[in-house]
Amino acid sequence: MNQEWTMITRSPEETAKLAERIGALLNENDVMTLEGDLGAGKTTFTKAVAAALGVTRNVTSPTFTIMKEYKGRLPFYHIDAYRIEDQLEDFGLEDYFEGGGVTVVEWASMIEDQLPPDRLEIRISYLGNTERRFYIKAHGARYITIGKELFNK
Ligand code: ADP
Ligand code: MG
Repeated sequence: MNQEWTMITRSPEETAKLAERIGALLNENDVMTLEGDLGAGKTTFTKAVAAALGVTRNVTSPTFTIMKEYKGRLPFYHIDAYRIEDQLEDFGLEDYFEGGGVTVVEWASMIEDQLPPDRLEIRISYLGNTERRFYIKAHGARYITIGKELFNK
């Protein structure tokens, strides 16, 4: 069961607003994947999701680690699958997916087979200097509900 939506943002602030609205709808054990080229807006988006979850620490890319954990109204797990490469076999990502927090996975396509079947998939594409297209696909009933609340349809 899937459903998809697209939305265009026309500034970093609009992207942050969209991310905050999504963040406000997320609950424990929710998983969101984030794809997009360098400069698409993944970090801009992730920071705003974290803020909506009550994370006060600055969220930065998990450059030297696969995962960074932050405290908010829920734990916030930020996974960068780009770092996982070959070590993925024993990493046990489900400990995060089912760890009572909200997980955002960047470069999720690199670990496609390890993703939970139910998740919110987000792809950001560059349209122009300040324009980005968000493709949002809900996998499973829980995320379809979130998408419907978000887009009111
Ligand atoms: P990524 O993490 O995907 O590499 P960043 O979030 O670090 O991308 O960078 C996105 C850059 O694009 C920032 O400099 C941001 O200000 C700029 N930008 C311009 N328009 C937008 C938009 N509509 N949404 C998000 N970022 C935008
Ligand atoms: Mg980034």
